[in-house]
Formats: sequence, C-alpha cells, structure tokens
Amino acid sequence: MTLPYAEPLVRREPQPRVIPEPPRVGEPGGPHCGLCDWLADFEHSEHRPPLWYDDNWALCRATGVTIPGLVWLTSRTHHDSFADLPDELAQSYGPVVARVERAILALGDIARVHVYRWGDGSAHFHVWFYPRPLGMLEARREMLPLWAELMPEAPQEAVADAEAKIAAAMAETA
Ligand SMILES: [Zn+2]
Repeated sequence: MTLPYAEPLVRREPQPRVIPEPPRVGEPGGPHCGLCDWLADFEHSEHRPPLWYDDNWALCRATGVTIPGLVWLTSRTHHDSFADLPDELAQSYGPVVARVERAILALGDIARVHVYRWGDGSAHFHVWFYPRPLGMLEARREMLPLWAELMPEAPQEAVADAEAKIAAAMAETA
C-alpha cells in the first residue's frame, strides 16, 4: 500500500471539531436532495437514466471516472443510512450488492471490488463500488479511492463499455 503522493509527507494534527456539523445535501436545513427529483422522474430528466433499477434500487454512473466499472447504488427512496432503511430495502441490499459485485468482476482484470458507504456528502442512501485493477497493489485497501481521485480520466469508450456490460449483467440476473 502506498499513497499516491511522493514522500516526504508531513503528519498533520486533527482540526478542532465542528459541532454541530453543517447540514448535508438532503438533510433538514441543507440543500435540496436533487437525487430524489431525478429518481422520481429520470425518464424526463436531462441526466441519463440509471444503468439498472428496480423498485428499491438504482445503479448509477459516476462522473469523471478514472477506473472503468466504478458505479454507485442508491435507494429509490430517501433514507439516510443503514440504520434508517426499511426492512424491505435492508433485506434486498445484500442480494443486489452481490449482483453488482459479480457484474463488475465479470469485466475482467479486476482484483477486487471495494464497497464504500461514506454518506458524508449526501443524506440520500448510496454506496460506491470501486473496482481495484488487477495487479495495482499500491491501491489496496483505503488507498484505492485516493488513487481513483488522482488518476487521469479513463477513455470515454472504455467507461461506456464497462457500464454497458454491467447494465447487461444486471438485467440478465433480474
Ligand atoms: Zn433524496
């Protein structure tokens, strides 16, 4: 594991805590949840529709993708965290994540699929799927999102091809 930065790095002290924290997108007092708007009517949205969806979940494209196959999954309805998911969504979460992981792995040349839920930006439940390229040992564990942030954007055709394959695999296993 290595950071995507040259040495030497200087250790910083944690900043003073900010309490109360500023409201996130879709949280009371925060910016409006545009994700709710899009999910309610993506057929008529200016943004492209999800790669795949059912009554509970939508699998979505990312922007500025550096690793083809990087996608995110969101609940169709507004819930914040695992703690807030209704039972039906909580029960369907495991099977749908397994399907997404299998669809990404089937792209080939992927060592592992990392699944992240940060939830620090938007209060609408979503998880990220980061494929770790096979052999990219410096991007193991928590280094992968740092590398993914700093690597050059992948060719659009490669990103679109990976997304199309993932969408097809999800449709097949529905
Ligand atoms: Zn929302």
